[in-house]
Amino acid sequence: MSDINPPAPQSTRRQRLFRLEAVVLRHTDWGEADRLIWLFTREMGKLRAVAKGVRKPRSRKAGHLEPFTRVNLLLARGRDLPLITQADTVDAYLPLRDSLLRTTYASYIVELLDRFTFEEASLTSAKENRALYRLLTDTLERLSQAENPASSSPAQTVGRGSPELAVRYYEMRLLDFVGFRPQLFTCTVCGAEILPQDQYFSPRQGGVLCPTCGSPSAALNRPADHDDLVESEPHPASAARPISMKALKYLRHFQRSSYAEAARAVLTPILNRELEGIMQGYITYVLERGLNTPSFIRRVRQNLRDTPSETGDAQEPPPES
Ligand SMILES: [Zn+2]
Repeated sequence: MSDINPPAPQSTRRQRLFRLEAVVLRHTDWGEADRLIWLFTREMGKLRAVAKGVRKPRSRKAGHLEPFTRVNLLLARGRDLPLITQADTVDAYLPLRDSLLRTTYASYIVELLDRFTFEEASLTSAKENRALYRLLTDTLERLSQAENPASSSPAQTVGRGSPELAVRYYEMRLLDFVGFRPQLFTCTVCGAEILPQDQYFSPRQGGVLCPTCGSPSAALNRPADHDDLVESEPHPASAARPISMKALKYLRHFQRSSYAEAARAVLTPILNRELEGIMQGYITYVLERGLNTPSFIRRVRQNLRDTPSETGDAQEPPPES
């Protein structure tokens, strides 16, 4: 008996306990039977907590702590990390678990949030945490409710409120919230207004280039076939790549519209693939260059706060040579 902690007096226990609502981002095994759980909480943003004994067969908490489950938690302040003492599912988003494609999309949106956020309370305000949490739970809900994913037939229309549309919309809003809103209305190099014609997108510049500024580098890498745009892209993510006027219009639409408005757009598989390639190139660039590190984000946010513009024109990063 001597190695078992005596129960704390009731009053002390109450003070140590607190409640949070969260979505489980991921978990890893910890010790003999425990798990370390990464959470995105509504109240405190990203947070790690320990779930004791959840790998034991009879654990009552285990089922509530799987990735992309929305959960109510009772936690106790631990010496280091908080301990999860109680977990109750708010929404398991069951439709996301019955198809591999939906599971993959849900894993992707959760991973993206995980990689763009930090366990540092000073970095985000309570308002920002709530906005990100809302975006996350809304998107999980949209993925759950979405029509069936597109078939592989290129002729088929992905359609309204498809999982693909929910994911593309999420990427755009997330980039906005974390300070990397791409510039889509004026050339990020010369400032010229972007005309209704095919353009270039530069991950390094964080937005669109006009044909004059974009073509010298893009000409070397221009894919022969529009369809090959994503898969056969040989050059590094930092190079400018072509973006069709249609794709640009969709990105602008996602940037400016509510989801209800955005979901009226019809996304064909080919267009979806082009948008996916552009967003992936940009996101990969931002993440690989460490632009999502706390110090960089603080700087970006400071710049945003100092900027009166609402159009996003002044949010472009400084040009690099
Ligand atoms: Zn230009």
